[in-house]
Parts: sequence; structure tokens; C-alpha cells
Amino acid sequence: MTETFKAILVSRDAEKKQSVAVTDLTDADLMEGDVTIAVEATTVNYKDGLAISGKAPVIRRWPLVPGIDLAGTVISSSNPDWRKGDKVILNGWGVGETHFGAYAGRARVKGDWLVPLPESMSAHDAMAVGTAGYTAMLCVMALERHGILPDRGPVVVTGAAGGVGSVAVSILSSLGYHVVASTGRNAESPYLINLGAAEVISRDELNQPAKPLAKERWAGGIDSVGSHILANVLSMTSYGGAVAACGLAGGMDLPSSVAPFILRGVSLLGIDSVMAPKAVRLEAWRRIGSDLDVDKLASLSTTIGFDGIIGAAHDIVDGKIRGRVVVDM
Ligand code: NDP
Repeated sequence: MTETFKAILVSRDAEKKQSVAVTDLTDADLMEGDVTIAVEATTVNYKDGLAISGKAPVIRRWPLVPGIDLAGTVISSSNPDWRKGDKVILNGWGVGETHFGAYAGRARVKGDWLVPLPESMSAHDAMAVGTAGYTAMLCVMALERHGILPDRGPVVVTGAAGGVGSVAVSILSSLGYHVVASTGRNAESPYLINLGAAEVISRDELNQPAKPLAKERWAGGIDSVGSHILANVLSMTSYGGAVAACGLAGGMDLPSSVAPFILRGVSLLGIDSVMAPKAVRLEAWRRIGSDLDVDKLASLSTTIGFDGIIGAAHDIVDGKIRGRVVVDM
């Protein structure tokens, strides 16, 4: 008898109205690829929330199994780099956007998209990190390349109680940075201090239209919010500093001026995780294995089952999720 597995399928009708259903699929339903994986854990990222809720055009192939991140075990492979039994991670590459993704018992993907699960981590740990955490590490690496090391001064993290933010706070504090965490949820101050924030500030301080330049408050920043918040972070960055921008949870616009760039030599470092080259991914995951405290990772993540994915997807776009959500499949 043909084996079936559960999957979330997002479809749309002739009027382009989107619907989400849980269905049974077989291997024959999966898309092209040279490696088939038993999905053991996945997660709910902001982008997955946008995909399932339909709030932004993340899905560009219909119908589609969403889910941009997975960790699991290779079931079969015709790719020379991977063998049955290998433990792997997948983040991005259009999976969950144009290629069937993680919200299914099995995934078939290109072997070139996979990285090995670090030996120190379980599938669950890797998904507690997920794309959000791997992106936080890409941001840290970008700041380091720019010379923004702990001795240069404080670093601000915006959207701090979210997924990217929580992992960024944890990594930066483990590396010895003085972390200023900006959040709209003041009740999460104890959580952020526990992750290693030295100071917690209210999102309101950064949410007004930005002046071209303001008092210098930090040497750098990691911003997952965009819009006025990023504009204020830039205007408050000290001479020669840098800000890594990776997200748009507060808006896609950037109502800023050139003043921070031309008068203070501030740099804006753009971060994309989806198409990041394999060498960069391997380095980011190696650094996650060495620089992210496993106890902090446990304290910033909650675990749900497959049936909780759709609810969590709606919650994340409403800004209601703290830290990271792991889905045990
Ligand atoms: P989360 O929803 O977990 O975190 C986003 C956080 O931003 C929220 O928790 C909240 O933090 C803050 N926030 C939410 N809405 C607003 C608002 N309207 N105004 C100001 N702040 C707000 O999402 P993730 O951490 O998973 O992702 C964050 C962003 O990064 C998303 O835009 C995502 O698409 C992007 N991203 C980009 C990647 C890339 O490759 N460039 C990869 C991964 C993510 P708080 O309550 O603490 O203020």
C-alpha cells in the first residue's frame, strides 16, 4: 500500500482567494529533487505566517506546502553528498515559497540546498534556531566583518522579543556585547534580561519619525523591524558604526535621510538568508554551534505539534509570538 503523510496545503481558487487545508500526500505528490527527507522538526517563521495568512505574496506556486525551514533525516538520495540516514537542515532557497516545504511528513529537495546538522545539535535545537536564528547569526557576522566588536560600544537589537531578536540578543551577549534590547512588549523585559540584554528600552522611543541625526547611543544594531525604527536606529548610531537590516515586521519603508551615512560614516548592512551561498551558511551554522548557549536556546523556544502550525502562523504576524516556535513532527 502507498504510504501517506500529513501535509498543510495552501491553494487558491479562480478568484485568487487563498485557502489552507490539512491533507494526505504521498511521495508521488512531492516536487522534483534528488534527496527525500523525513521531516523531524520544523518551525514557524514570520515569513511562514505571511504565507499561511496570505498577508504578503510569499507563495508563488499553487498549490504549495509552506514551511521554509526543516530538520530531518535523509530517506533516499541520488546526490553524491548525501546518504540515507544523514541528519540535515534546510533553510530557505525558495522552499515554502516556490517549492514544497517543511509542513509535511516528507520533503523532496535539491541536495545542494542542505547543510549537515551540527553534531552538538538535535533536529529540535536546529529548529529552535531556524531561519530566524541563522539570520541573526548572519547579522552578527556582518557587524564583526565591519569591525563592530564588543569594545566599540553598545549594540541595539530591535524586535528583541521576536525570533530574530531573541537569538540576536543571546548570541551578542554570549560574545560579550553590551546589548540594548528594544521591544514593544514591556512585560518581556525579564525574558530579555535573562537572555543577556544589559538594557531594555521601549519600542516607542524609536517609533516616531526620525531626525536626520540624533544623540549617538550605540555602535551598531541588528534590526528586524524596518520603517521608523530602523530610521531612528541609524540616526542614533555613533560615528563609523554599522546596522545590519534583515526584516520588515514594522514596515517595508525606510523614512530616513543620508545624514547618518555622509556625516557619521554609518553603514547599513543588508542581510538576506534565503539565497546566501552555501559557504556562508556553513560558517553561520558552525558559529551557532559554538556561540549560542544551549540553555538560552531552550529558554527562548516553545514547542508545538503539527496541529498548532496554522494558529502559530496567524499569531506571529500579529506580533504575539515570543522567541522561537519549534514544531515537533
Ligand atoms: P517575529 O514576529 O518573531 O519578530 C518580529 C518582532 O518585531 C516582534 O516580535 C516584535 O518585537 C516586533 N514587531 C512586530 N510588529 C511590529 C511593528 N508593527 N512595529 C514595530 N515592531 C514590531 O518575526 P521573526 O523574528 O521571525 O522575523 C522578523 C523579521 O525578519 C520579519 O520581517 C522577517 O520577514 C524578517 N526575516 C528576514 C530574513 C532575511 O533573510 N532577511 C530571515 C528571517 C526573518 P517586540 O514585541 O519585541 O517589539
